[in-house]
Amino acid sequence: MCAQVSDNSKPSEGNILPVRGFCIAAPQSKDLNEFIKFIGEELAPRSVNTLILRVDYNYQYESHPELRDSLALSKKEVKMLVAACRKNNIRIIPHINLLGHQSWAGKIGNLLKVYPQFDETPLVKMPENYVWPNADGLYCKSYCPLNPDVHGVVFDVVDEICDVFETDSFHAGMDEVFYIGEAQCPRCSGRDKAELFAGEVRTIRDHLAVKGRKLWIWGDRLLDGKTSGIGEWEASYNNTFRAIDMIPKDVIICDWHYERPDQTPVFFAMKGLSVITCPWRNPANAVLQTRDMVRFRNNSTPEMKDRFLGMVQTIWSGAGQFLDNYYGRKPENSENTQVKCFKALFGEIQKMTESK
Ligand SMILES: [Zn+2]
Repeated sequence: MCAQVSDNSKPSEGNILPVRGFCIAAPQSKDLNEFIKFIGEELAPRSVNTLILRVDYNYQYESHPELRDSLALSKKEVKMLVAACRKNNIRIIPHINLLGHQSWAGKIGNLLKVYPQFDETPLVKMPENYVWPNADGLYCKSYCPLNPDVHGVVFDVVDEICDVFETDSFHAGMDEVFYIGEAQCPRCSGRDKAELFAGEVRTIRDHLAVKGRKLWIWGDRLLDGKTSGIGEWEASYNNTFRAIDMIPKDVIICDWHYERPDQTPVFFAMKGLSVITCPWRNPANAVLQTRDMVRFRNNSTPEMKDRFLGMVQTIWSGAGQFLDNYYGRKPENSENTQVKCFKALFGEIQKMTESK
């Protein structure tokens, strides 16, 4: 594949979708060269024009060296990624998990490891052997959005990662926030969880706006799980969903659905929010989701049409493991894989663009 697929020197013109994205953990140093090759030989020919890189603490931060992962990308390595994407007209959007996802399974994340005072639930101890479900309802830790010192730290690293990637947009995660407004937090207890969530979105959005940058987030906390029947990870069961009417309309929503092609993009667009559909590893659904996204653009009012921005393929293994799968060193037998989903999604975009 496939130099003839599109003229990537014009990322949007002539294509059916303005955003054609790929979201993956930033590579480790050892995988950097192959990842750059993948950008040039696989992403660019498929007219991918947006790369969301989940950097988190995989960078040698100068503002807060105490938060760095033990192995972390150098500035020189990041600039290699920036150059590769610029050459291929791909916009990079760096990602750091804010608010939620401050731990994973039995492992605490760097922010709360170094700054335990930011923990929304300090009484919930990390288990030796993590299981779900558990008595604490611990999925991931959150930081307390009302801690007076938390933004002073996280905004330093947000600004630094945006500067080094030379970007106009930042992805803050903010998905799957199960701990928010907890009774054990002296600041948040008793407060409205939707207002707490919306307040944190607005705080981050306003901070980015000072430098002309836009905020991207996952959409799951803004969907009403109980009423819609959408599950407790991809929708909210703790009443944060009312925040959809409280957040600024220029926040970009990455609307992930991995089991069904839910029609939720229409809901976001009708609320005035721009939306991107994100599949994972189900190729058949990714094709349906792509067709839906194009149909929404074609069949909507002029007011809503441009809010249907496009598609982003999400990858939830590390970049190294994904490359092992992609290049066949560790082949996968299942019908439903990230590699097959990626190829199906961009195959469908190509097909629909050519038949336009
Ligand atoms: Zn709190």
